[in-house]
Amino acid sequence: MRLDGKVALVTGSSQGIGQVIAIRLAEAGAKVVINYRSHPEGAAETVAKIRAMGGECHGAEGYCDDDHAFSIGADLSILADIHRLVGESIDHYGQLDILVNNAGIEKHAPFWEVTEKAFDAVINVNLKGVFFTTQAVVKHLMATERSGKIINISSVHEDLPFPNFAPYCASKGGLKMLTRDLAVELAPYGITVNNVAPGAIETPINSELLNNQAKLNALLKNIPLGRLGHPQDVAGLVEFLASDDANYITGSTFFVDGGLTWNYQEQ
Ligand code: NAD
Repeated sequence: MRLDGKVALVTGSSQGIGQVIAIRLAEAGAKVVINYRSHPEGAAETVAKIRAMGGECHGAEGYCDDDHAFSIGADLSILADIHRLVGESIDHYGQLDILVNNAGIEKHAPFWEVTEKAFDAVINVNLKGVFFTTQAVVKHLMATERSGKIINISSVHEDLPFPNFAPYCASKGGLKMLTRDLAVELAPYGITVNNVAPGAIETPINSELLNNQAKLNALLKNIPLGRLGHPQDVAGLVEFLASDDANYITGSTFFVDGGLTWNYQEQ
């Protein structure tokens, strides 16, 4: 299998896109560390789904052991939690090869009403959390002289305006430049860094949109492929970027948006 022998850490993998990415990487043969902040049941569900696959023994060699996934609670807006998360992952599996920075939040408010608390909450998870989780993993890769893959789940809003979500746009725009910068700085160490930028994907983060038919219809008019994305649409690309097939790709953003970005009209 494509990711045999690899160990991946997927942040925010107790639900939504992160959960499906974690399962997809495990299907490709990776051992996966599941991370959650406040939803241990969701993390346990992800782990159980991956362990259930193990029972059938996958691939030519097959794996049947129970140890292809486990979960760690950690709040990525807290530096000490990040260090514990990465440390415990390495202690458990002896290595890390793939980091998927998936955890992210958004908060709705007109720009002039955004509080310091709301700003910090978004930036601390979406940008500072990604920065220091990546730093901790990169230190491990450098110390052990391993190559590695960093994949950030960004958003079409690293490029497109999203009125009333200014901190979110600032965080994802920051992530775009962080990726480009790290791609250059880490290339000599065999570490690649790429962004996956989803459009509108059916997950809990979009529950308000999913419950507002008028808003949904207006958005669908902007999506040339005529539907919202599924987490699987994102996960397939992440699996590819995590594999050796993507060894020559770094510093890029890949949009998974049904064509939205090139057809975007502000709502
Ligand atoms: P979601 O709300 O379903 O999942 C977000 C995950 O992040 C959850 O597992 C949550 O527990 C975790 N998380 C949040 N704060 C955390 C913290 N402080 N510490 C640890 N984990 C934390 O959302 P989703 O749609 O699955 O989003 C996943 C990523 O995809 C996010 O970065 C989001 O910005 C991005 N994205 C989503 C869409 C979409 O339409 N769904 C579009 C573009 C980008």
